[in-house]
Order: sequence, then structure tokens, then C-alpha cells
Amino acid sequence: MKVIKIETHVLSNPLDQSFFFSQWAYDERRICIVKITTDEGVYGWGEGYGPADIIQQGIVLLEPILIGKNPLENESLWFEMYRKTLDFARRSVLFAAISAIDIALWDIKGKALNLPVSTLLGGQHRKKVVPYATGLYFSHSKTLVDDLVSEAKEYVAQGFKAMKMKVGLSIEDDIRHVKNIRAAIGPDIKLMVDSNHAYSLREALELARKIEPYDISWFEEPVSPEFYDQYAQLRQKTSIPIAGGECEYLRYGFLQLFQNKSVDIAQIEICASGGLTEAKRIGSLASTFGVEVIPHVWGTGIGFHAALHFIANIEPLPGRLFPPDIYIEYDRTENAIRDRLTLPVVQMEAGYIDIPQTPGLGIDIDPEALKEFSTVS
Ligand code: MG
Repeated sequence: MKVIKIETHVLSNPLDQSFFFSQWAYDERRICIVKITTDEGVYGWGEGYGPADIIQQGIVLLEPILIGKNPLENESLWFEMYRKTLDFARRSVLFAAISAIDIALWDIKGKALNLPVSTLLGGQHRKKVVPYATGLYFSHSKTLVDDLVSEAKEYVAQGFKAMKMKVGLSIEDDIRHVKNIRAAIGPDIKLMVDSNHAYSLREALELARKIEPYDISWFEEPVSPEFYDQYAQLRQKTSIPIAGGECEYLRYGFLQLFQNKSVDIAQIEICASGGLTEAKRIGSLASTFGVEVIPHVWGTGIGFHAALHFIANIEPLPGRLFPPDIYIEYDRTENAIRDRLTLPVVQMEAGYIDIPQTPGLGIDIDPEALKEFSTVS
């Protein structure tokens, strides 16, 4: 089997309502996906996380490494892509290009061997996962607190057992939002907060201590991803578990997080940190430090399904007769591309999503949606 064609698509969807978090505002979802086709007609889909147009150029740069090669030898192809970019892209968006290609190669391998990607990764430790709703972003609405409370209640009504809200507006605003949302959702729903590295260590510690009474399951990216030691200091001073890693690349980046004892939970972004091939290695590395892994997911059904298969394969930590459920991040902000690009549509039942048992990633692309969202007609 040989790779004969690589096609990239930059997809765009202007939002009906813009929203923002601690760093910037969104008024468009813009995503780069890739289709890799083989001489036997088998094809795979992949997705990169980050600036879509740059990821597209990265895939174009890597294309000569892949054409004519056997896609089933995906680890050696990964290494060739890594080696050809290492000198100028040790930790960069080019790894989102490699990730997109890597995911597409796993999809091909699964379809060619008639196995789900999670089985190819080594097996399914679980058949279902618990999605947590990612939403509760900021807007300029004069009734922001009420809006957040309604949104949180809606997630509960939809059957979510957990949700993640944004903080990082100001410590006072954050406390008010956390207090109101916790009161609205009651004590049984898990609640996480994410500041997207908005705070200094002093501010993050103040916020952490003041929201400790609201039973927060984790504080995500409290400080800059560069400050591994500040993460560690914060961990020592709050009872809230600390999460991070969505801005980290490769096992070498995650090694710094682990060696510095920076996080309780490592959030690998499979579509940027090196694809499924590298995520598996990062997961193994995390297990040697006793660190939990819950991937960061923010994209279409391609990235979501890559995460489903990866999570199915994560070893329970620690192993026991009745291990706890693992979460998957389920972005609920406005994104028509995510909602319509892939089939079958993701189904949540009784607060769970099943691991796909069909070959490859277990999805295909709706050609109509691809055409509609494509930036090139
Ligand atoms: Mg985050």
C-alpha cells in the first residue's frame, strides 16, 4: 500500500455570536483538516489544532516525505517528519501538521486492517467515557452571570455529569461566576475552571484559595505554560488539582511538566502535540510519574474521535477492580463545522459516549458540509 495523494482543507465558519476567554475573542472557527489517499483506495482523515492556514502550509512542506510510502509504517514516517523539522521547529505549530498527518495514517491503518484505532493502539481499557461540557465563556452581555447560570443549567438538563468554565476575567468576577454556577448546578455535578494562563502565581493562588470551598475538580492552566516551577508551587499550596499541557509539544515538553511536578492532570492536545503516535508515548511517560491524562479537545469530530480512541487505550491509574470513569472534553461552544462535518453524529446517552467499534477512527466526512465550510470553492 502506498500514499498517492494528500489534500488539505481549511474550513471556516463565522460565528453568530462572538465569545471570548482570558486571551482573545472568537468570531470564526477556522480549522485545517487533511485527507490522505492510498493506491488501494483506502483513505484517512486527520486534523491539526492551531492556526489553520499555517498548519496547511506545514502539511504541504511534509508531503514529499509521505508520497509513495507505506502508510502502515506510520511510526517510521512520524520519525521522518520529526527529523526533517527538528532543526527549526522543536516545539511549534509544525507539530500540528505532523499530528494531522499522523491521525490520518492511523485512520488508514485501522481501515486497512479492519480494526478500530483504539484496538491498534493496544486495546480498549474501557468501552465508554464521560464527556464534560466545555463552555461558559465570556461575552459583553450585561447579564453575563445570569447567562452563565442558564448555560450551566442547560448542560445539567442535557445529562452532563461535569462541566468546565472559564476564569481569568478578574479574581472578583471569577469568584462571583464560580459561586453562582456551583449554586445553580448543585453539589453532584463536577465543575472545573480554566484560566488559560491568565494569572501570576500570586493571583492564581488567591483565586484557588477563594474557590476551594466550591468543590473544583481541577484548575487548568493557572499560570504561563513556561513557568513549570510556579505550577509546582501552586500545587503545593492549594487542595485543587492542577491541570495543564494543552500548549505543550512532544514527550520532551511533557517530561518538563512531569519532572517539575507541575501537574496532577496532563492535557495532551493530540492534534498538536504529535498525533496519536506521540500521545501514546506521552501517556506512557505520564504513567511513570503517576500523572493522570485527560486530553485537551477543541475541534471537529476528527479530533474528538482521535481522543475517544486514545482515551479508550489509557491504562487505568492505578489499576483496580472498579476503576473510575475517564473524562473526554466535549466542546459545546458554537461550532457548526464540529457539529456537521463528521458522521455519524456523536451521541451522548445517560452521560456517557461509547468508544467507536468500527474500523479506523470510525467516522467519515459529510461531503456537503466539507464543501459548504471550505474556504476554497
Ligand atoms: Mg484549556
